[in-house]
Amino acid sequence: MSRVALVTGGTRGIGAAISMALRNAGYRVAATYAGNDEKARAFHEVTGISVHKWDVSDYEACGKGIAEIQGELGPIEILVNNAGITRDAMFHKMTPQQWHEVVNTNLTGLFNMTHHVWQGMRDRSFGRVVNISSINGQKGQMGQANYSAAKAGDLGFTKALAQEGAAKNITVNAICPGYIGTEMVLAVPEKVLNERIIPQIPVGRLGDPEEIARIVVFLVGDDAGFITGSTISANGGQFVV
Ligand code: NDP
Repeated sequence: MSRVALVTGGTRGIGAAISMALRNAGYRVAATYAGNDEKARAFHEVTGISVHKWDVSDYEACGKGIAEIQGELGPIEILVNNAGITRDAMFHKMTPQQWHEVVNTNLTGLFNMTHHVWQGMRDRSFGRVVNISSINGQKGQMGQANYSAAKAGDLGFTKALAQEGAAKNITVNAICPGYIGTEMVLAVPEKVLNERIIPQIPVGRLGDPEEIARIVVFLVGDDAGFITGSTISANGGQFVV
């Protein structure tokens, strides 16, 4: 039987592309989302991929949701921590709520999800965890102290966990996308996109969600067992580490 993959925030944007790419590669996929029932329903109708609603910042909800999925599909061997939000503000105007919402979702969400599948991966001596961080976690971004801190934290989490998982054949890697053409980015006025954003990207275009999805498919495959603790940048040359 094919392996089971769980993609958080897997119903739209980059996550939807990841869910579909994994499904097309032969995995049995479950996708989670936070609250956009309409998008999730439409995604399920088009793809047939099962969708599950809970908040990744809620540790107990993660445990309950994961147990339900494992009851239906079997042990989760591949976890893609993709769910993320922004609550942008310059730091002098940033509220504690904006800080905590972003850190709780984008960083603590990784603990909440991974902690519930980790022991099973250890017991079966196989696991693949892919964390979707961001270029802004690598370089920092004005107006995103919360997001940049959380996404940088994702990279530290990835590196530490990779070392813990290695002896049990569990790999943990991170991907740092640059500007990807999702709803969030395409909602930016065309003039701003063309005159301010795209000129910062040496390849001269936004990335496609599928370009991130293909990296995930590679990292979770059996052939990628020697790659762990890595950060893969996919940003069109915008930031070269
Ligand atoms: P979208 O806003 O298009 O989709 C986000 C997904 O995450 C949705 O499915 C959403 O559910 C879900 N989600 C959000 N918060 C939670 C939560 N608390 N619990 C569970 N699910 C949640 O995001 P993108 O596709 O643009 O981004 C995906 C990831 O890639 C994020 O981590 C983002 O930070 C990162 N990234 C994106 C870049 C870009 O250019 N787009 C660049 C670099 C990194 P719902 O539909 O219910 O709201």
